[in-house]
Amino acid sequence: MLEVKRLELKRDVMSNRNWIILALLAVTMTAVAQQPASAPQNPQPVAAAQPGQTAAQPSAAPSGQAQSDQSPQAQANLAPPTTMDQVVDRVILREKELIKFLSPRTPIVETYLQNLTQDPQLGPIPQDDHYFLGRMDLSDSIDRSDYLLEKVKGEGEGMEKRLLGGITKRFKFQYQPLGFSWMIFADRNEFDRQHYNFHYARREFLGDVRCLVFDLTPKKDAGRGRFLGRIWIEDQDFSIVRLNGTYARPSRNSYFYHMDSWRLNLIPGYWVPAYIYSEEGDFTAGAKNKIAFKAQTRMWGYNLKTGTANDELTQIRVDSVKDETPSAQDASPLAAEREWQQQAEDNVLERLERAGLLAPAGDVDKILQTVVNNIEITNNIELPRPVRTRVLTTSPLETFSVGNTIVVSRGLIDVLPDEGSLAMVLSHELAHIVLGHNLGSQYAFNDRMLFSDEVTYQNLGFKHIPEEEAAADKKAVEMLKASPYAQKLDSAGLFIKALQKRAPQLSALLQAHLGNNITDNGTVTRMAQLANSAPALDWNKLDQIAALPLGGRVKLNPWDDRVEIVKAQPVAITSARDKMPFEVTPFFPRLARYSAVSTAAATTADASPTPTN
Ligand SMILES: [Zn+2]
Repeated sequence: MLEVKRLELKRDVMSNRNWIILALLAVTMTAVAQQPASAPQNPQPVAAAQPGQTAAQPSAAPSGQAQSDQSPQAQANLAPPTTMDQVVDRVILREKELIKFLSPRTPIVETYLQNLTQDPQLGPIPQDDHYFLGRMDLSDSIDRSDYLLEKVKGEGEGMEKRLLGGITKRFKFQYQPLGFSWMIFADRNEFDRQHYNFHYARREFLGDVRCLVFDLTPKKDAGRGRFLGRIWIEDQDFSIVRLNGTYARPSRNSYFYHMDSWRLNLIPGYWVPAYIYSEEGDFTAGAKNKIAFKAQTRMWGYNLKTGTANDELTQIRVDSVKDETPSAQDASPLAAEREWQQQAEDNVLERLERAGLLAPAGDVDKILQTVVNNIEITNNIELPRPVRTRVLTTSPLETFSVGNTIVVSRGLIDVLPDEGSLAMVLSHELAHIVLGHNLGSQYAFNDRMLFSDEVTYQNLGFKHIPEEEAAADKKAVEMLKASPYAQKLDSAGLFIKALQKRAPQLSALLQAHLGNNITDNGTVTRMAQLANSAPALDWNKLDQIAALPLGGRVKLNPWDDRVEIVKAQPVAITSARDKMPFEVTPFFPRLARYSAVSTAAATTADASPTPTN
């Protein structure tokens, strides 16, 4: 019966996928057909018409579908272009409009960084890591406030210094979190012809979006900290969609990082900053590198309400006060207890969602839910209320449960290699629920929800005592062995082994902020017994994928915080270095213009978790 259910799910997935591809094709075709009509309002640069420069760059358009549809025939239809100077003026104007549009917003910004060391077999691998999470204030300048207590203190409070990527102190290098997010704009205050030279380079497709590429250099007397690099401009409204480069002339003993910054067209008319990848380091023989790291910065929560204390006071829920059932009965003590727990659960989920830390309920939840149901049904587990699942928007690997809801972090779902390992993760939290290890009933009191978003981690917590952790592990293994995942526990055990191998270097990634840590002092504790029966971990075995890189599975919408499963084609692994378990990689989002169709596609369920090898 389970098998049939899953087959149906898969068939749905297939037809959805075909439908999405067809829809994307239709959109691209329409865009091409509309070019001549819309072109007069959208002047094209002179140089664009030169045939030699029209070829899309394969390196920048990893999936070949759109470019074969659109070039070069589509570009032969280009409207009469006007001057390049007019294009530059439009770009500057559009950037100013974006800065103004975003100024009242305080998106969440998360940076996860891995310092690298050279491994003779595996290449650069993580040596240690850092995690920063905060809210950006985009109003007058760019500033941020952090969610985490152990935040890095600015060395000197001057804005210019705080915007630097890092500072060499006497004994060690110190990262400045704000330095990773600076490149959301090229230049917040003085993006203009007085400070920059714009040099047109070529045309190029980024995903489905045709772009004009410009190299930007600061003018001689433009001062410190000016953008130096390349920008990609979409060719309809002339918004910047990607920036790649660094900032010129840092002061002594300090660094501006190299950054690759991507924007997404998630709302009509604007491309909002979404991802920034930073990388430094030189691993060629004989290189003397001071710093070597890779870092991913993600922004989301643009559409969150800015929560002032007054806002929150008006949001206290009163809807459970009145009982409207016609034959109202008094609640038995047990029923009252359950009602109370549900109230606490609802409060917590609502509060986390409002803080941008929990994705709205959606399709990824349904996938997790299916796995939970499979375990429940085969173990004859009947609970008074159905178990729900939700996704934390953050990267650190953690899970917790509140009431009947299991919460798993985006980062953890990312690195799980298959459904068996996902079942392992979920079974531990399901065991807490089955065993009645309820935490969080204190949150049924609404006053406990009245805090500012930045102190969420100090006000909410769902850590079990060690005895409950051990009991949950034991129960979880029992349930897994009776479930459809009994034959898939090798991969779950391999995941534990891979995690154990990397855990000492990844303390920031493994630091849970709401639930229990899954490691203790660099040793995996969660479900560790599954490693005993797993095969040997072997990096050189190319078909053994024990854990995935970060960011490969779950995509977070920066505007509305929805999560969806990434639709990526599997890429063949050709060496041990391709595995990159738990590692940070560059971003290469497939850019597409905003449309009702793509929004519909984004909310359509896609694949169930399958290995990408
Ligand atoms: Zn636990």
